[in-house]
Formats: sequence, C-alpha cells, structure tokens
Amino acid sequence: MQSILSSWFVQGMVKATSDMWLKGWDERNGGNVSLRLLEEEVEPFASDFYAAPRCVELTQPAPQLANCWFLVTGSGKFFRNVQLDPADSLALLKVDEQGLSYKIYWGLSNGGLPTSELASHFQSHSVRKQVSNGVDRVIMHCHATNFMSLSYVVELDSARFTRLLWEGSTECLVVFPDGVGILPWMVPGTDEIGQATADKMASHSLVMWPFHGIFGAGPTLDETFGLIDTAEKSSEVIVKVLSMGGIRQSITTEQLVALGKRFNVTPWQAALDVGPANAS
Ligand code: 13P
Ligand code: ZN
Repeated sequence: MQSILSSWFVQGMVKATSDMWLKGWDERNGGNVSLRLLEEEVEPFASDFYAAPRCVELTQPAPQLANCWFLVTGSGKFFRNVQLDPADSLALLKVDEQGLSYKIYWGLSNGGLPTSELASHFQSHSVRKQVSNGVDRVIMHCHATNFMSLSYVVELDSARFTRLLWEGSTECLVVFPDGVGILPWMVPGTDEIGQATADKMASHSLVMWPFHGIFGAGPTLDETFGLIDTAEKSSEVIVKVLSMGGIRQSITTEQLVALGKRFNVTPWQAALDVGPANAS
C-alpha cells in the first residue's frame, strides 16, 4: 500500500512550496496554496486518514465546493519546511455536503489550522471552478517580490498595470491574456478580502493585493506556479527598466494584437485600449 506521502498531490505540493521558497516569494510563513482534489484521487490513501477527523466550521458558506477535497498549506507553516515534514505543514480536508464546514482527514499532525487565507482560496475556487468548467484546481498566493514592489510606484489600475506587464516580456500576453485584477489594500485573512479577490477572479487569473502579494489560479500546481513566475519575471524586468530611467521603446499595440492572433488568445481589450505603457 502506497503511503499518502508519496502521492502525486503531496509530492506536487512539496515541489511547489519548495520552488516558491527558493524563488524568495515566501519568507517565514508567507504564502499559501490550495489544490482541489477528486474523491477517486484521495480514496486510494484512505488507510492513512485519521480515524476521527477534526471538524471545523467555515467562516462563510461555500455551497459550490460541497463534497470537494482540498490539499492546503497550514496557517503559520514555513514553506521552506514543507519538504522536511509535509504531514505537519499540509492539511487534506473535505468540505461537507452543504458547504458549511470541513473535516481534516490527514496532515497538521501537530495541530493547527489550514491557511488564514482559506476564505480567499475557497471563494476563488468557487468562482474559478465555474468560469473554467471545472478545469482550474489550484489557487496560489505568495509575496512575489518584484510584483509587489511595483504596487508602490505604478498607478493601481488593472488595465494599465496589465499593459505594463504585457510590455515587460513578450510571453506575458499569451500566458495571462485576461490580465491582472487589482484590489484596494485590505486587511488579509478575512471574508471581505476573500469576496473581493473572488470577484476579480471571475475575469482575471491573477489578482494583485497591493503592498502584499499576488493570487493566481490555474489547472495544475505547475501551471499556476508558471503563471505567477511569468508575471513576476515581467515585474522584475519593469523594476529594472524603471530603475534605468524608464521605458524608451517597447512592444506596440499592433504587435500585441499580432501576438494574440498567433497564439490563439483574446487579449483583454481594456489593456489594449489604454495605449502604450510609456505614455501612461
Ligand atoms: P498563513 O500562514 O495563514 O497561510 O498566512 C500567510 C500569508 O501569506 C497571509 O497572507
Ligand atoms: Zn500573504
């Protein structure tokens, strides 16, 4: 019988959190990740489940996630330590049939709770599950350094910021054609920021929390990591460009449109309409 520790989902979470730590996006306990799982994916590991799973009430009902399984990072857990003790750092949980509570079946072996950002994760999962027809299974939050640095100096306008990142690296428009949603600064770890994040997730796979970090949604851990990595790489280029005196030449609107055509994506019109980033 294979241990749950060697399952693809625990191993995938170990790799994602370790890579995120190595990227410098997750100091201390910064960041959190959740992966939606199917009954048939977790069932083979049922012999590793707790005999009496702990039940925790949700702060807000999540009826769209009724009966869904999730592997999530624990609150206060250091990403650099997940690889050393996944059973302590992660939690495997199942939402009840009404979406009012969940039970922890495995993980958090020394106690504790899932991430304090569970509201943002669950509300975002509810929205992305619907808009992606069930394809999106991952919500990832981290403190990507250059991305959050930009929130201190650029205008906090979604279309203009999206345009800036699209111009910061040619692949960006292809990887996130729907652009980046931006929230006002809000207190983290609350239902309110969860609702606001999920509202943006209805039309964007990336959301900025100014002066804090980034939320990304995608079908797999790899895809979602790649999505954030791409936005962060472009942010790094823009940070360097701004530090060198600003944009003198860049990708034009016509070139962005041609890029979208070649790679079969529909770029967010508002980010095309705002015009060149150096003119903003
Ligand atoms: P948790 O340790 O509760 O996941 O919180 C980390 C974080 O990044 C909060 O925004
Ligand atoms: Zn955070």
